[in-house]
Amino acid sequence: MHTVVAIKQVPDTSNVRINPETGTLIREGVPAIVNPYDAHAVELAVRLKEKFGGTVTVISMGPPKAAEALSECVEQGADRAILITDRKFSAADTLATSYVLARTIEALQAEGPVDLLLFGKQAIDGDTAQVGPGVATRLGVPLISYAVAVESFDPAARTAVVHRQTERGIEVLQTRLPALLTVEKDVAPVSRAPLPNLIRAARYTPETWTASAPVPFDPAKIGIKGSPTIVGKAYTPPPKKAGGQVSVAEKGAPAAVAEALAKIKAAGVGL
Ligand SMILES: Cc1cc2nc3c(=O)[nH]c(=O)nc-3n(C[C@H](O)[C@H](O)[C@H](O)COP(=O)(O)OP(=O)(O)OC[C@H]3O[C@@H](n4cnc5c(N)ncnc54)[C@H](O)[C@@H]3O)c2cc1C
Repeated sequence: MHTVVAIKQVPDTSNVRINPETGTLIREGVPAIVNPYDAHAVELAVRLKEKFGGTVTVISMGPPKAAEALSECVEQGADRAILITDRKFSAADTLATSYVLARTIEALQAEGPVDLLLFGKQAIDGDTAQVGPGVATRLGVPLISYAVAVESFDPAARTAVVHRQTERGIEVLQTRLPALLTVEKDVAPVSRAPLPNLIRAARYTPETWTASAPVPFDPAKIGIKGSPTIVGKAYTPPPKKAGGQVSVAEKGAPAAVAEALAKIKAAGVGL
């Protein structure tokens, strides 16, 4: 059984600051972490490995610094880690990112069968939730997004039953394998890394794949050349002002409602 997990290194803050000139995130001086949803995806992969055997490979497209995030995944129990890094990949949008990850997974499939692909529901910096579905579409595999539990997994019959969170509650879906799941944090709580893993991770160096080797990526499909998304303007929105308040206790409901309606109208909000 072989599971591939895509992880992204992200700034350890939801209070991201944008460089007004370049429109890109200010990452200097901001500690970086494994994207929280991805840490739960790695945990799920390791637990399935403990139950069914096999290996876990983690892949990440990012700057050289992202090797730290991959090492953390080896501490969690991943067997192999691949950093796909090259200046030619920078400023990629989700289309270009999904291309690079899909090509990388195809190269791993050329080495041997891949049974399961795990992605986080979304990255806490870009927040688009587009990369997982983009990769599933490129590879032509079934996609189950917002997965909260894997009820059953049968590598021999090549099927799995997965619970998916929706606005209307939990959907229970059966899928053929390989399939791509984007996961919520509920899918598997992250456990403390055992000492043998810490020792192994300290001695392990993630593989480095570039834009040309071992996989030749199409230069027109990577980085800014492969990204149709044009960032028109990026800025940190000013903090919202607190709204006005009307006390029902002081004024009584009818008067309070009337005053609130008058304030809303005065603010030009059409009712
Ligand atoms: C503030 C901000 C806004 C952005 N807005 C847009 C936008 O509107 N449109 C657009 O196309 N791009 C946008 N980007 C660029 C986008 O962040 C990158 O393309 C990024 O590589 C993937 O998108 P995401 O961060 O939204 O990831 P998501 O699609 O939210 O990530 C989902 C999952 O995909 C996997 N994944 C994502 N990135 C990687 C990676 N580099 N390596 C390995 N696995 C990965 C992880 O498992 C992750 O949990 C934005 C970036 C920032 C910082």
